[in-house]
Amino acid sequence: MTQQRRAILDAICGRGSHPSADELYHDLRQRLPRISLATVYRNLETLASSGLVGKLEHGCGQRRFDGNPGPHHHVRCVCCGRIEDLRQDMGVPDAEGIGRQLGGRYRVVSVCVDVLVVCPGCQ
Ligand SMILES: [Zn+2]
Ligand SMILES: [Zn+2]
Repeated sequence: MTQQRRAILDAICGRGSHPSADELYHDLRQRLPRISLATVYRNLETLASSGLVGKLEHGCGQRRFDGNPGPHHHVRCVCCGRIEDLRQDMGVPDAEGIGRQLGGRYRVVSVCVDVLVVCPGCQ
């Protein structure tokens, strides 16, 4: 792993939110003044395809990246696109539970719920 890629991974995990490539670029420029936006994009794609970070894609708005690559649920603001993790104890059925509700006809691969909200800042 190159030093730049390591720095990008640290920046995603350190933020605790779900930054876009532009936000990460802005953060990284403080520490690595010579880094380019193209480098950030390229490394993000590599990190995502190797499963080290999650990639959150929605029809509208910017693609965002997640320091937690495992399946989990999100709360997403429909106005500003801000994303937070949904607490684990919120009662969303897991893959096994959903599989049972589907009558066992499907093999459930993962369950990722998006709860659409208007965040406090946008209200
Ligand atoms: Zn918002
Ligand atoms: Zn997340």
